[in-house]
Amino acid sequence: MSLPITAAQDVLREKFAKNRVTILVGETGSGKSTQVPKFIRSLDPEHERIAITQPRRVAAINLARRVADEMKVSVGKEVGYTVRFSNMSGASTGIKFLTDGMLLRELLVKPKLSQYTTIVLDEAHERTLLTDLLMGFLKALLRQRTDLRLVIMSATIDAERFSAFYDDAEVLYVQGRMYNVERFYLPAPVEDVVDAAVRTVVQIAMGEKTGDILVFLAGQEEIDKATDMLTEVAQSWPKEAPELAVLPLYAALPQNQQMAVFERPKGNRRKVVLATNIAETSLTIPGVRYVVDSGLHKVKVWWHDLGLDSLLVVPISQSSAAQRMGRAGREAPGKCYRLYTEQDYRNLKTQNEPEVLRCDVASPLLVLKCAGVDNVFKWDWFERPQKKAMVASLTQLYALGALDNAGAITPLGRKMALLPLAPHLAAVLLKAQAAGVEDAVLDIVSCLSIENLLMNPHPDKRDDVNEKRQPFVQASAGMGDLLVLRELLVFFRGLGSRDEKRDWCRDLYINFRAMSNVEDIKRQLQGYLKTKARADNDHRITAAEAEQVIKCFLAGFVCNTALMLPDRSYKTVVGSQTINIHPSSSMFGKRTEAIIYTEYIFTTKAYARMVSPIQLDWLQEIAPHFLNRREA
Ligand code: ADP
Ligand code: MG
Repeated sequence: MSLPITAAQDVLREKFAKNRVTILVGETGSGKSTQVPKFIRSLDPEHERIAITQPRRVAAINLARRVADEMKVSVGKEVGYTVRFSNMSGASTGIKFLTDGMLLRELLVKPKLSQYTTIVLDEAHERTLLTDLLMGFLKALLRQRTDLRLVIMSATIDAERFSAFYDDAEVLYVQGRMYNVERFYLPAPVEDVVDAAVRTVVQIAMGEKTGDILVFLAGQEEIDKATDMLTEVAQSWPKEAPELAVLPLYAALPQNQQMAVFERPKGNRRKVVLATNIAETSLTIPGVRYVVDSGLHKVKVWWHDLGLDSLLVVPISQSSAAQRMGRAGREAPGKCYRLYTEQDYRNLKTQNEPEVLRCDVASPLLVLKCAGVDNVFKWDWFERPQKKAMVASLTQLYALGALDNAGAITPLGRKMALLPLAPHLAAVLLKAQAAGVEDAVLDIVSCLSIENLLMNPHPDKRDDVNEKRQPFVQASAGMGDLLVLRELLVFFRGLGSRDEKRDWCRDLYINFRAMSNVEDIKRQLQGYLKTKARADNDHRITAAEAEQVIKCFLAGFVCNTALMLPDRSYKTVVGSQTINIHPSSSMFGKRTEAIIYTEYIFTTKAYARMVSPIQLDWLQEIAPHFLNRREA
């Protein structure tokens, strides 16, 4: 109750009552996300229906729980949330936290959003693609609905720009409450940042009597590695020091495991949370006094020329570094260990680049088309994507059959827009439903939705691992990596105990934790497709079915195909770039007239991963409109 924002509540209420649009700027920890919805609701508790968006689902769920706690109600009644695959709200919900993606989806179904009186866009400074898109939609909606109230909440940047976009809306500032956080830099750069992070955690755990530790690493792979290292260290842990409870936190983790980081661990253990930038803003993880910052994060980078995106590990910005540090001072003074030098820090970009400028915009463009925006170039973007990016994405949507010759959305496109998947994966699933190979394709799509399911063995172990995976390659009848993936999944399902599954995964360099999540994702996707779970989980696929499966993928990934040239190299159908089959692929060293791939990575050269063989006439069969147009 001693939050900085509490002192300002009367003024805020008055402003919210008067203004149609308000920009509220406040430092992290001032109480924006948890208190503002309550202030607005108190204006008219009977009638106010408030939606508060969050860029991440874990934040939406956690905030709903916190606010429900503060109001002494249970989640799902007065206070609720809606995130992908989970709805905890109802007719009586006056305060609803939801991801920006869910609000967009609601907008497609109910364009006036008449179920809400107030929309709050939180964390607007993060500039995610979806928040940016919502800003444009809401600007138009404000003209249609004079009774709608909009509040944009942001950390201390970009306020003037938000205000200008909404006809000079009023900007209010609240003072932050941040405890002092002492920061430390490395004297010299380190080679292995995961190793450095683990050593820093051990140092803190030995040197400081109390307080939990939050470590920021680039991605799941780094987090898994650090988890293993810390588990090993724990074996020889001195008796005097409190034991460690090591908890990973990344987007692909199932919800119940994500929520574990907010609980007190059992026994007298000390929490070590290993997180991606998912924990960078919005979240308060109780108990955290120490932050260890690797200075890295993963971003999706879109390669226009190839029509593909890939994840790259890159340095964070200064504003991310500040947010990460802030996590140590939410409840008491803290310390932040930056695993880079002070000079490196000064060289960081000040802000992250808005997502809309570096990502594939196919998905937002499909949403715009679905919402009836004909000319996406003329739309009132908060930040306009590059023209080149928009043209590439429109071409992609056309190739997927989501748009017709005139650029209008097709019935298939509408279905795709409503599935919570990237357009190309949605296209694959819808095709599979029609072709009668839905179950196998659902298996594979679920596997593809998880990062790093198959691990890359160390080069001197590669032959050994390849040999162990060989029976599954055989079982897939030479139809490539997508079907090998399914064979592995089917075998994994058939194994008995957890230990047996774990050992088998270790042997084959499969990520056990990731593999254990596949079933959950599949169930959720089935819910969206509204298909009943069928008991053909271990159905052995026939050669004809395997061909059907690949054709379904072709419907979604027609841009990701390459043809073999006489010199046996492959050139992409789109863009005519040279591409190599990755050594980890079951298709490595094999010859086929054409390939399809679902992953692209660039190291020293361009590699295709998740490769399957295709025949040239399949291309003609699946996407004639696309090929003919390209020839013309
Ligand atoms: P803001 O959105 O301005 O960053 P929040 O409203 O999320 O701030 O949180 C304000 C303060 O409330 C935090 O600094 C913390 O002290 C407390 N708080 C919020 N959520 C929790 C939680 N789940 N557990 C414990 N304390 C919390
Ligand atoms: Mg917040």
